[in-house]
Amino acid sequence: MQIGILAVQGAFVEHRKKLESLGAECIELRKKSDLKHHLDGLVLPGGESTVQGKLLLELDLLQPLKQMIEQGTPVLATCAGLILLAERLVNDPHVYFGTLPVTVRRNGYGRQLGSFYTVQEMKEIGSVSMTFIRAPYIEKVGENVEILAEHEGKIVAVRYGMQFGLAFHPELDEDNRIHELFLSVCETAILKI
Ligand code: GLN
Repeated sequence: MQIGILAVQGAFVEHRKKLESLGAECIELRKKSDLKHHLDGLVLPGGESTVQGKLLLELDLLQPLKQMIEQGTPVLATCAGLILLAERLVNDPHVYFGTLPVTVRRNGYGRQLGSFYTVQEMKEIGSVSMTFIRAPYIEKVGENVEILAEHEGKIVAVRYGMQFGLAFHPELDEDNRIHELFLSVCETAILKI
């Protein structure tokens, strides 16, 4: 199983370590030629979405990755990655991939005091520890978007077909279950082809 991890900025190393510990091979995506590899899944890590979005455009990665997502390659997007996937941002005019029909509020918990840790129930998994760092949250979901987790009435995890959007950072916790779920979805996607 080969997973492409967007590695232009942000917390990509932590995703890589986790996925490798679960037996996946990881390809760091920094330039267009990295997309020549066969990829069974994609990870969009946390970081700074404005910087990542700008680099995606400059490096000519935005359109090819968007096409892969639209064609059904599974994607795990965390924090800034969720912002990149969202169809609409309430407090930012940008749209990047725009493949996930949700409305997201950037820095939804405030810029400075926005980092915290909580434990919440997540559908398909159970009780999960969640680390939020200047996190966004999801204000509204479109049709067929499944809400996987909420925190204090705010949506913090969704699934839409093969796309997972999480406001928190599962790569920073000991727990492997979210990455395991993602890899099992990638495996199912392969079987369907
Ligand atoms: N606040 C960041 C942004 O808007 C996201 C934070 C994160 O990925 N930890 O891009």
